[in-house]
Amino acid sequence: MASKYPQDAGQDQANPQGQQRGKECQTCDTYQRDVTLPRLSTPLQLKKGPDKDKIISTFLNAMNALLNKGEGCVFFHIDDPNLVGFFDEAVDDKLKLLIPNDFLFHQVFERTHIDKNHVVFRVRSTKRPFISTLSFNSKVSLDRGLDDPTHAQMRRWIEEGSLSLQTSVQNTIASKLTFKKGKEVMVRNDGGSEVPFQESVEMQAKQFEPKPETMLETDWFMNVKEFLWAKSRPYITAFSKLQTGGSVFFGLREEKLEGVTGKFVCDGIKLSENKRADVDKTIRNKIKTEMAWLIHDCPKGWNPEHAVSVVFHAVTANEPDLCVVEIAVKSVRGVSFYDKQPVAYKLTSRGSPQPVTFEEWAKRQELPLPVPGTERVDLIEAQNPPLY
Ligand SMILES: [Zn+2]
Repeated sequence: MASKYPQDAGQDQANPQGQQRGKECQTCDTYQRDVTLPRLSTPLQLKKGPDKDKIISTFLNAMNALLNKGEGCVFFHIDDPNLVGFFDEAVDDKLKLLIPNDFLFHQVFERTHIDKNHVVFRVRSTKRPFISTLSFNSKVSLDRGLDDPTHAQMRRWIEEGSLSLQTSVQNTIASKLTFKKGKEVMVRNDGGSEVPFQESVEMQAKQFEPKPETMLETDWFMNVKEFLWAKSRPYITAFSKLQTGGSVFFGLREEKLEGVTGKFVCDGIKLSENKRADVDKTIRNKIKTEMAWLIHDCPKGWNPEHAVSVVFHAVTANEPDLCVVEIAVKSVRGVSFYDKQPVAYKLTSRGSPQPVTFEEWAKRQELPLPVPGTERVDLIEAQNPPLY
């Protein structure tokens, strides 16, 4: 049995789905025949090689689907028992994040080693009121970058929005910054003196890569727009959750100094009037078409564009086109998603994980229902009509 692996490698290539395995292995066969719990249509096969990440991702999708089913199990055929340790390490933290309430890991998951080649992961039938979400496609802001929200944090925003926020707040920090080409960015503090800019929960900085000499101006500009959008969208979801709102500045370069915090130097980027208008239009359009928003007490006529402004700050230099681009995000009472919707799975009757729609997801979140005398909760997904 120990020498099984090399022999199996060739076989795996002939059967990339690993389906043959179940037919050849007595234990897998018995499992497939006798287990009545909801499960995948075929056992997963844990094997060496580049498919490892794919197996982990299939496993997590399956566990997410089973949590949303209420119970079930995932059966593993393991080619090489040495892989078990690696696998456990890779999935433990991620499984923990799938629990949609305050249950402990062992209350929800159970792992049983049948023999050295077989492990079964069981999802216990614990009452779970809310949908388990694999990825919220929404971020929270830390002092030095972004993090994934937990189920509990998301529930809070979904139920309450930014707490005690009365009106949208525009981040106003930019008026206190000075941008000079090639110089460290400074912030004027309340006492009137200037201190070096540092990244914080509501302020982040990004640099532009210089245009490669051989690249066409039009191609470069396309890249700039793509870069701006790709980097902005997670920050928009994070900053809109803060009561202060927040801004990400493009065109600042962090000079890392050993042993001390880095300093941010202003490089800026050259954008003509036309290009600035194009950037503004592109970002606005993408906010409407590529993100989704869940807004409490949504005012009539509210549009996702209202949450974000694109600001071009002059850089003091003899180059009128040189600017720093700020994506300024207002606080909103609710949640935004940078990739249209959160990712969650359900198990089909044929035993495969299938993504749930935003409508199903929102329904399973048991969003607050309309209460007489109060504004209802609206779900705004791009330009589609509200769901509630
Ligand atoms: Zn087996």
